[in-house]
Amino acid sequence: MDRRSTLYNAPAVVDGSSMTLRFLGSGGAFSRQYGTTCSLVTFPGGERWLIDCGRQAPDQLWDAGLDWHEIDGQIVTHVHGDHIFGLEDFAFQRYYQASGEVSAIMCGGPRPRFLAHSAVRDEVWESLAASLRYLKVGDNPRAGTFDSYFEMIEPHAWEQPGQNPWRHSETFTLNGHQIVARESEHVPGKPSCSLEIEVGQGDRIAWWSGDCTVDAGFLAAIEPRTTIYFHDCTFTDYPGQVHGAFSLLEKLPKSVRDKMVLMHHEDDIEDHRAQVEALGFRVGLPDQVYDLVTGRRVD
Ligand SMILES: [Zn+2]
Ligand SMILES: [Zn+2]
Repeated sequence: MDRRSTLYNAPAVVDGSSMTLRFLGSGGAFSRQYGTTCSLVTFPGGERWLIDCGRQAPDQLWDAGLDWHEIDGQIVTHVHGDHIFGLEDFAFQRYYQASGEVSAIMCGGPRPRFLAHSAVRDEVWESLAASLRYLKVGDNPRAGTFDSYFEMIEPHAWEQPGQNPWRHSETFTLNGHQIVARESEHVPGKPSCSLEIEVGQGDRIAWWSGDCTVDAGFLAAIEPRTTIYFHDCTFTDYPGQVHGAFSLLEKLPKSVRDKMVLMHHEDDIEDHRAQVEALGFRVGLPDQVYDLVTGRRVD
């Protein structure tokens, strides 16, 4: 049986001009019920990209009726296991295996593309290199590089470093859409980015937090041009918070809350649903699909 036609193609794509985001996993770092974070963005031309690729991503993709050979590229916000531990599976499957019409990379097949802030990209390779560098070329058994597995998208613009040594933001062009990876506050001293994804005619963005604390001033400032926000969320308050504390999210202006989907949440999110929805937020769950142009949930 063809899993793709029975599972995936039925609900997810709205029409040829839409740009959608489907949650494959919507849970936080330790979620068992909702899966670690991985989302599928489908561009108007049909290209499929993932935002982050947590440790459960290979199984989430399988459950969605997709395989790695149907994914055109990967965006990464930062290096934590719940965001990148599925990447080795992606790299090796594409390198060594063919599927359908897509050849293995080792036989000349296409490499999936890869987009991340350069400071994040360096850390992704640092994490993957211990396994992926073992490609033998001539006498060198460790000739594998990041480029052996993925085609890197380079930024065409950037902002100078702010608080940290790396650039404050980098801007990329993907399928004619600008994507800004902007330094955000997650774990102090660690490269981590939020994403501004250009949607529609180019005057609007869909915003994706990655993992970060609540920057209320910034979120309010971008509201007029933002169709939808996806913010990581926690109800566990503690000193040195590195996530979107709900105690701060609930104080955001209503105009922002009404456009915000809470994701990367804990397994007790249903206990908070009534409170969350009364304030205008939506709760992101696996298999939900959002139209990034209108900001509406479509499935
Ligand atoms: Zn995380
Ligand atoms: Zn994180």
